[in-house]
Amino acid sequence: MKLLDSKGRMAKKLRISVTDRCNFACLFCMPEKEKIRWIPQDEILSFEEIQRITMVLASLGIEKVRITGGEPLIRARLEHLIRSLCAIPGIKTVDMTSNGWHLERKAGAIREAGLRGVTVSLHSLRSDRFASISGVDALPRVLRGIEKALDVGLRPVKVNSVAIRGYNDDEIIELVEYARERRILIRFIEFMPLDGLGIWSADKVVSGKEIIEKVSAKYPLRPQGRASAETSSVWRFSDGKGEMGLITSMSDPFCDDCDRVRLTADGKLLSCLFDTEYYDLRHLVRNGGTNNDLTTAILGAVWRKPEGVGHMSWIRESWTKPRNMNAIGG
Ligand code: SAM
Repeated sequence: MKLLDSKGRMAKKLRISVTDRCNFACLFCMPEKEKIRWIPQDEILSFEEIQRITMVLASLGIEKVRITGGEPLIRARLEHLIRSLCAIPGIKTVDMTSNGWHLERKAGAIREAGLRGVTVSLHSLRSDRFASISGVDALPRVLRGIEKALDVGLRPVKVNSVAIRGYNDDEIIELVEYARERRILIRFIEFMPLDGLGIWSADKVVSGKEIIEKVSAKYPLRPQGRASAETSSVWRFSDGKGEMGLITSMSDPFCDDCDRVRLTADGKLLSCLFDTEYYDLRHLVRNGGTNNDLTTAILGAVWRKPEGVGHMSWIRESWTKPRNMNAIGG
């Protein structure tokens, strides 16, 4: 039995949100403080529950796990979960996406537990702007976290930047230079309408095409294409100093070979970032469901995976936000 959907795509990657909570309040992600409804603690999956669901998913063909959130590193003893996920037969790699705040302190432990690589979100290199975008004056600490991740041998270390017109689009070259100097892969993500404050509008999306034009005017680039089922297309610097990536979720969605499924912090399986249907696995896990019951629920959920955002006319026409990013984990 494999995780096949009705459009013929096979799921191989799992993103696990270990918490919906975050110590940052990025303006393109979180809602206003007063409007935040954190998931109650008793509804959050335990490490054992996450491990059990992942084991069932691995038995159905999931090979790669990415831990995300909220901010995954605010979950206590995350290294224990990492270790147990790495030990699951069939799981080849466990990586993480983080805001970098706790990375300096935790990099050694998570690497030792078996984490392969880390992607750190970095949307500005100017302290005041970083603070106004993320809600926390944390730039030096995040940069130290990235250095520490490199030092302890986490690989790959990547940087993700959401480019937003009028907020940080004038820093694209600086961000590229920061990454080139360290031979880190920087990936620019197009702003998606999954933000909590409702600031998203089409004109704030800086398209991948625009970014390439801007960067290649200073640093010529050679297109390397997008490997099957990857989120980013890769561009190599002609001078040999590394690569950069573009995640064109809005201008050129890559749903036709999507191989990802997501598990929310409260145990719901989501087969697509833009899906409106949740499949409650926690209910099964906590009410005597067997692994066969879980398998049946998971296979059904994946089979009904939507075709993708490029085909979801209701999103294209009205851009209604199905949920905020912090609730799914990006
Ligand atoms: N807290 C971690 C972090 O900051 O990377 C992990 C969770 S965060 C939701 C995962 C990724 O989603 C980050 O790279 C973030 O920049 C991206 N993201 C959040 N909201 C977004 C939006 N509206 N459009 C595009 N990317 C977004």
